[in-house]
Amino acid sequence: MNLDDYRGIWVYLEVREGRIAPVSLELLGAGRQMADKRGVPLAGLLIGDGVRELAQTVFPYGADQVYVYDDRIFADYRTESYMRAVIECVQKHKPEILLYGATSTGKDLASAVATDLETGLTADTTMLDVNAETGLLEASRPAFGGNIMATILCKKHRPQMATVRPKVMKAMEPDFTRTGEVIRESIQLAEEDIRTKVLKVVRETREKVRLDEADVIVAGGKGLGSKEGFALIHRFAEAIGATVGASRDAVEAGWIDHAHQVGQTGVTVTPKIYFAIGISGAIQHLVGMRNAGLIIAINKDPNAPIFQACHYGIVGDAFEIVPLLMEAFQKE
Ligand code: FAD
Repeated sequence: MNLDDYRGIWVYLEVREGRIAPVSLELLGAGRQMADKRGVPLAGLLIGDGVRELAQTVFPYGADQVYVYDDRIFADYRTESYMRAVIECVQKHKPEILLYGATSTGKDLASAVATDLETGLTADTTMLDVNAETGLLEASRPAFGGNIMATILCKKHRPQMATVRPKVMKAMEPDFTRTGEVIRESIQLAEEDIRTKVLKVVRETREKVRLDEADVIVAGGKGLGSKEGFALIHRFAEAIGATVGASRDAVEAGWIDHAHQVGQTGVTVTPKIYFAIGISGAIQHLVGMRNAGLIIAINKDPNAPIFQACHYGIVGDAFEIVPLLMEAFQKE
């Protein structure tokens, strides 16, 4: 493989409910910075049915070009059809870097593409940089239980690929005067070539938790003592219009669904305000929330590690402090 044949930075543009997913715009922001550092173009890769118009919406967010596969065959996400399009496009245009959001679709697609192309993939990345000279992608992620940050390099294969957690990169302030080039692609793919058929799409009925997009999170931990005690977290969150988060121990106790878990094996969040209530502040929890704008901790143990990580700490019993806070907010 001649590494010099590969040039440019690409972002896989995930489509969610007819729009480009926020994580893809965040990746364009990170990709723009790396592309400028390298002096190479930034492109989006858009696959779907009836998605052509969406290509225009990403130019304000930094893309120079968008490769578009718009075909009936891509109406539903299926690993086989989507990976065929990505692989064909990569082999034709040879990007040096290809980034995906670490969503269920992004993770599924990236791993299938990496296996087929026999190239490296750094999963669940939280930091990205590129070497301006060599084009080597420096993809970092927490490792060993969050105790170290590992920077992973893919020295011998191209494209270098990474999935990146939502909300850790920043989208550009849109510049609506920016335009770019839409490059239409097509693929010889018949329905019979794809082994998976989507028989029915069943919408999840329970409320979808969008922790990674929340501005204010009220998170509760084992210190709440019981499911009934954890109800205090729901009441507080509702009173201030926040989303509920939780530590792993609260989830494992069965007080709340795993979708609410923040941390290494949960979701990484960057809200403007994060309340950590009855949470000790284990490293595995901290890696998921330490980039919040303002962290407020309530814990009855003055030596709890969370007090080393928060901006404001209240030492006291959650069952006394939280009702006082709710009262104060109601007066505001
Ligand atoms: P505890 O550590 O038991 O802390 C409870 C806290 O509540 C204590 O500090 C106590 O002083 C305080 N408290 C008690 N009563 C009150 C009261 N009435 N008022 C106020 N404060 C009170 N954890 C995560 O959260 N997310 C993860 O994604 C995650 N992933 C992990 C992955 C691995 C591989 C491993 C090994 C662990 C992981 N953990 C994760 C678990 C993590 O190590 C901790 O065990 C967990 O975060 C502790 O949860 P906690 O703070 O709720 O409970």
